[in-house]
Amino acid sequence: MREHCQSLIRPEPVGSTVDLTEDMPEKLRERLSKQGYHLIGERGAYKACQWQKKALTHGDFCYKQRFYGIQSHRCLQMTPVVDKCTQNCQFCWRVTPEDVGVAWDQLHVSRSPSSTPSELLDGVLMANLRTLGGFNPEIAPGVTQEMYEEARQPRHVAVSLAGEPTLYPQIGELIDEIHSRGMTSFLVTNGTNPDVLKSMTMPTQLYITLAAPDEDTHRTLCRPGIRNAWKQTLDSQELLGSLGTRTVNRLTMVSKRNMHSPRSYAKLILRGEPDFVEIKAYMHLGSSRRRLASNNSPSHREIRAFSRDLSALTGYYVADEQVESRVVLLSRRKHINKVQHA
Ligand code: SF4
Repeated sequence: MREHCQSLIRPEPVGSTVDLTEDMPEKLRERLSKQGYHLIGERGAYKACQWQKKALTHGDFCYKQRFYGIQSHRCLQMTPVVDKCTQNCQFCWRVTPEDVGVAWDQLHVSRSPSSTPSELLDGVLMANLRTLGGFNPEIAPGVTQEMYEEARQPRHVAVSLAGEPTLYPQIGELIDEIHSRGMTSFLVTNGTNPDVLKSMTMPTQLYITLAAPDEDTHRTLCRPGIRNAWKQTLDSQELLGSLGTRTVNRLTMVSKRNMHSPRSYAKLILRGEPDFVEIKAYMHLGSSRRRLASNNSPSHREIRAFSRDLSALTGYYVADEQVESRVVLLSRRKHINKVQHA
């Protein structure tokens, strides 16, 4: 197990947060519960993925199954810090202070009284069982007993959902805990905490989001709440090749905002040489609907065209795509190995 130092998760805020509470405001809890989040402990959260339901009832599956072999009905999505992030991206589904009209400290997470990794995972597994209650084959048409039983024993945890997971002081131990329970892990970070990435246990697959080709776009679209956010993101990108795990750059594409300068994106990608690049359309959902319009969501045709440009500029192969999620996969190698479950 590799631990990271507590001081490393103290990002320096842009403005003062002195008078703000670290606790999750009640108004935020209420809003998240209404949106279908199961809150766990102080700030952990689980939300049932729509693809789990589609997999059980119709045999459909999400792009993670198609691209990497992660079975949709056995995949859980969670976050250890639903209310904390170093950025305030316009395209984020996360509920932010401007959405509920209450301010809180979005940056700092104390080790105590945060839930332990074991408590978080127990809560996530319990929430999955509760959600699956409605899919018991005895009452849910189309669900097979075999799929239902498998879904009750998940094999994969996606640490993403909302919030910046590297702000959780025990993020490395959370990954250890997931693996020790026989599951694989994906972790999605915005890259603003390179020191944490250097020292934590690596997930099965690590994502760094590249949401801007340059600092100006990053400042206006991602609205960082810490100093040096762009530099930190570049530092994380430089680290990618040395982290010893499968790596992905996720490009969340927002029309008229960050879907430009493919050469700059290509340079960034080649700095980290990740195994994969996912070019994915922003979806006009959740709290982002207040900040962006539906025409900020690119079509799959636009995603495909941008991906081809990036492929030509980086030498990455166009490996696959899923039209429904408007996502294209680029791969550094021609052949893709699927994730081996523990
Ligand atoms: S970095 Fe991720 S969680 Fe944070 S505001 Fe941006 S999209 Fe949301």
